[in-house]
Amino acid sequence: MARNDHKRVNLFNQFASNLDLLKEHPSVTVEPDAANTFLCPLCWKLYSIEAISHLTLEHVPPDYFGGRVRILTCQICNNTSGHLLDSHLARKEELDNALATSSPVEATFTVNKSFKIKGALQVSKPGHVSVYLNKSSNPYRFPELIQLLEQGSTPEVKYHIKGYNKKHVQIALLRIAYLIAVSELGYGFLCNDRIHEVRLQIQHPLQDIMPSSGIIPGNYPDEVLGINYVSYPSEEDAFLVVFDLRSQGVPFDMVYSFQEQTS
Ligand SMILES: [Zn+2]
Repeated sequence: MARNDHKRVNLFNQFASNLDLLKEHPSVTVEPDAANTFLCPLCWKLYSIEAISHLTLEHVPPDYFGGRVRILTCQICNNTSGHLLDSHLARKEELDNALATSSPVEATFTVNKSFKIKGALQVSKPGHVSVYLNKSSNPYRFPELIQLLEQGSTPEVKYHIKGYNKKHVQIALLRIAYLIAVSELGYGFLCNDRIHEVRLQIQHPLQDIMPSSGIIPGNYPDEVLGINYVSYPSEEDAFLVVFDLRSQGVPFDMVYSFQEQTS
């Protein structure tokens, strides 16, 4: 058995036992009531051990940010919400790092409204922009552009930098906090209407399900890394999940607060 298969089976068994225990609680009902099943924490579909090939190892935070495997999710949730949301978070990081360190960012250049060449753009100092062109992205037109420049003509060049969707970035962070909480606290964490709202928001990132994303960027002391419960002041009755995002050696902290239901 490959190493990853071992990890998957171990996580499956760990969470399936947790679910079996939770089902013993008189107010908890899981349908269909089959023993030894894994519940995908995002779509709430149940998987038997025979269907383990449909479950994937989740790096939380994503691999790109130096996360580690903490939990399983189903392939559908991993591919849809996972890859889609994480790509926006990664793009935001790339752009933020490029701005902070004056390093190049990928761009597409349209020359004389007639052809495109990929490359990179760098603002090395205010008012000074360097353009790097990727010859292999358009080997037929590249010599033409060089010739134009050598002749001293000024071609009209428009650049396009791929951005990111702010809402997707927020939900990607929310997804990380949610999966850390489920991986640490188990399925019992899900038995709360407000947490159900968080799950639906992650499943439907473009809808406004939660009143706010609850993301609070900042530098938090290492002592609070992980899951915290805030009980004071009482209106702040909430879970706080604090985690590091490390990309290209630039660390920063993120906090998400899951508010408990207050009556
Ligand atoms: Zn799922």
